[in-house]
Amino acid sequence: MGGCCCCFPSKPPRENPMHPIAEPLIKRKPNHTPPYHQRPPVTTHAHKGMNAVVRLKTGFERFRTNVNNKNPKLFESLRKDQSPKYMVFACADSRVSPTITLGLNPGEAFTVRNIAGMVPAYQKTRHCSVGSAIEFAVVVLKVECIVVIGHSRCGGIRELLSLKDEGPNAYHFIEDWVKIGMEAKKKVQRENRLLPFDDQCTVLEKVRLLKTF
Ligand SMILES: [Zn+2]
Repeated sequence: MGGCCCCFPSKPPRENPMHPIAEPLIKRKPNHTPPYHQRPPVTTHAHKGMNAVVRLKTGFERFRTNVNNKNPKLFESLRKDQSPKYMVFACADSRVSPTITLGLNPGEAFTVRNIAGMVPAYQKTRHCSVGSAIEFAVVVLKVECIVVIGHSRCGGIRELLSLKDEGPNAYHFIEDWVKIGMEAKKKVQRENRLLPFDDQCTVLEKVRLLKTF
C-alpha cells in the first residue's frame, strides 16, 4: 500500500524488481495446449461454478461464526443504521482490501473502489457513480475524513504511465478511465524524468489528486 503524496522519496525502491516492465493490466492466458499427460482432469463449467459458490458459502459461514456472532452489539447497531467516520477511495485490485489493510471494522468506512483508486474532478454529466458516492458520504453520512489510498504494483497506474498520446485504444473503457490521472502522470514524469519506468510507477502510485469536490 502506498503512503501519502507528500512523503515519497525521490528514488523509491521497487518491491519486486524482477517483474517485467511491460506488464499488461489484463493478463491473457497463453494460447497453447499442454501435452496430454500434463493436462488437468476434465472439469465442467458446472463443477467450477459449484466450487466458486461453495468457496463463498464457506467464507460467509466463517464470517458469521468468527466475526458476526462474536460482536453482537456492533452488528445489532449496524442493522439499524451506519455512521462511518471515513470515506475511503482504493483500487479494485484483488490483493488490497482497504478494510483489511487499514484494520477497519464493518461500519467504519464508506468505500469506493475502482481501477487505480481514481477520484475524478466534479462533472455533472460524467463519473456520476463516484460523484454520487461522495455526495452521499458527505451530505447524508457526514463522514469526517476522506482518504485516498494507493498500493504498489498497481496495474491501473502502469496503464496510465504507459499511455501514448497517439494511437488506438486497446480497451473499451480502461484508457479513458485512467486518463483521470493524466495531470498527476505528467507531473511525475516532469519531476522524475531520470527514473526508470518502474520507479516512476512507484512515485505515481503514491500521488493522488483529490480535485474539485
Ligand atoms: Zn491498483
